[in-house]
Amino acid sequence: MRGDFSGGEDLVSRSVLGPTKKHRRRGGRLVVILALVFLLGVGYSLLGLEEEGMALAIWPSTPVAESSKKQTQEPSDSATTCDEMNVLVDRSHSLSSEYVPRDLVSLQDYGVPTLGGGVLRREAAEHLGRLVEDAAEGGEELVVASAYRSYEEQQLSHEKLRSAFGAVAGTMSATPGHSQHQLGTAVDFTHAAAGYQLWEPFARTSAYRWLEDHAWEYGFVLAYPRGKKEQTGYQWEPWHYRYVGVEDAKRLEESDLSLQAFLERVGTMPHC
Ligand SMILES: [Zn+2]
Repeated sequence: MRGDFSGGEDLVSRSVLGPTKKHRRRGGRLVVILALVFLLGVGYSLLGLEEEGMALAIWPSTPVAESSKKQTQEPSDSATTCDEMNVLVDRSHSLSSEYVPRDLVSLQDYGVPTLGGGVLRREAAEHLGRLVEDAAEGGEELVVASAYRSYEEQQLSHEKLRSAFGAVAGTMSATPGHSQHQLGTAVDFTHAAAGYQLWEPFARTSAYRWLEDHAWEYGFVLAYPRGKKEQTGYQWEPWHYRYVGVEDAKRLEESDLSLQAFLERVGTMPHC
């Protein structure tokens, strides 16, 4: 045993001078040992017992790893995921022109002040009703200027902006299918102090500061923050909030992530 143990270091230093008969025999033994180690490694890999990092080091792109990755990223064709509260809709992820949420309710029924009516998905409307009520108790007026928009309505509003502003309309309004408003969970806020407009002066009002502090408690988050245009594809929209559920809104509040980055990591891909 002792001879075998010390032989390792010898083999390395003497092999430079050329292998002796004894060393060839030891070299052969080493090959057998290495082969056994290799086979054990593959065995572990096939049994799925290895850690992720180790599997990468031993076997950079195993067919097994690739096929399981594929399975988690591509649900079956019949799966519809657009009703999920954490579905990712942005410039590269779109909803189909057919998608209409099935549980749209009138915001007026939930005591939400609007400019000319509006509908949202039931869960979002319930939470929004509580949000505007509590804001009002704190002395802040919040009025919804825009809520759910169908694919066709988005098409019309986008074309309108495009004819008025040209190519820059692309950063002001989503192309049809790419709007969070089609989800039935996004709203645009305004109020008297902002002249009932959707523009940046809204961000200088106390109602906006109230939203900054409290919107997440009701499951709403600012979707297009200031200075994140490169990431979200849209300029700052201090008035545009999206409901994602209280749990995810809290997770977002506690993280440094924007909604975009958060949904890229843990969101659901739209299939509808
Ligand atoms: Zn909006």
